[in-house]
Amino acid sequence: MPIYEYEHIGTPCSWGKIFEIKQSINDEPLSHCLNCGGEVRKKISLVAVNITKSNRELRDLGFTKLIKREDGVYENMTRRNNDSRYVKQDDASTLPNLSHLD
Ligand SMILES: [Zn+2]
Repeated sequence: MPIYEYEHIGTPCSWGKIFEIKQSINDEPLSHCLNCGGEVRKKISLVAVNITKSNRELRDLGFTKLIKREDGVYENMTRRNNDSRYVKQDDASTLPNLSHLD
């Protein structure tokens, strides 16, 4: 079952401001926290998008998908024209170019 993230709209309870719940894909989204009854809203899950979309579709939708290859090194699966294939945490020149979001 997928895991969904919910966020307290008001005061967080002992579950924290954001908590995760396993739900069936057919379940209605929660509107209230099961712990404190406070109002919650579902956060958009990027994980669910990654599962159902190919890298190419993700790129066309404007997502960037990085896969960890070693400590501090990520392969950019959705790289565009001038993006480098490997993103190194401590090398800003390897970061994906986000100018297409403008
Ligand atoms: Zn709560």
